[in-house]
Amino acid sequence: MRKDNHRHQGLRSQLVQELIVKGIQDEDVLAAINTVPRHFFLDEAFAEWAYTDKAFQIGSGQTISQPYTVAKQTELLEVKKSDKILEIGTGSGYQACILAYLGCKLYTIERQEELFHKTSALLNAMKFHQIRTLFGDGYQGSERFAPFDKIIITAGASSIPSILFKQLKIGGIMVIPVGDTSSQRMLRIKKISNTSYIEEDHGNFSFVPFLGGTNTLAAARF
Ligand code: SAH
Repeated sequence: MRKDNHRHQGLRSQLVQELIVKGIQDEDVLAAINTVPRHFFLDEAFAEWAYTDKAFQIGSGQTISQPYTVAKQTELLEVKKSDKILEIGTGSGYQACILAYLGCKLYTIERQEELFHKTSALLNAMKFHQIRTLFGDGYQGSERFAPFDKIIITAGASSIPSILFKQLKIGGIMVIPVGDTSSQRMLRIKKISNTSYIEEDHGNFSFVPFLGGTNTLAAARF
């Protein structure tokens, strides 16, 4: 496990100030960013830049989202301690830890098997026991653990996946970037009934694509 020292803590509080200037207001979300050591989630080579407001490559062609994006999606989710939340796109695990810091029970799905194993090991070592990592295709959600109070998608979708909408409780919130492969609008969906929802648009973002199916280790090697 890497060390978290005063220098890292200082860099984190500067990052928090930057996020406040960019419009993040939720005190609990800012406290989470101020506490979770983002440099644990990056390759050693990038650790130096962990507290700049940028996305980075994390292997398997995937990225760790920009801190502003993580803060914004988390703020939009209005996390409560009693919430059961589903995240699609575990990636580095950073977003998962920010959510878990807020006290919810979190299920997170990753389709890249190599990344799933790497991140599961890291989250275990960090003792985030209220996070349950799942390997699979996020388009299917998790029938086993549904329904969820909230669902967060951290990959760019072309539309709102109907299975995920089904697995959201009535009154629940889904935060999902919807658009094409180059850019997406951040939508917040509030489920009103089994067939209707209210939609809010929270601006332009850019994510790696929400892909169907899984990418297993065997397929990655050969
Ligand atoms: N939340 C992550 C962001 C990772 S980038 C973090 O904090 O680091 C998006 C992730 O979504 C990638 O790891 C990608 O492999 C994953 N992904 C894309 N489509 C998926 C799908 N259908 N099911 C599960 N994960 C998916």
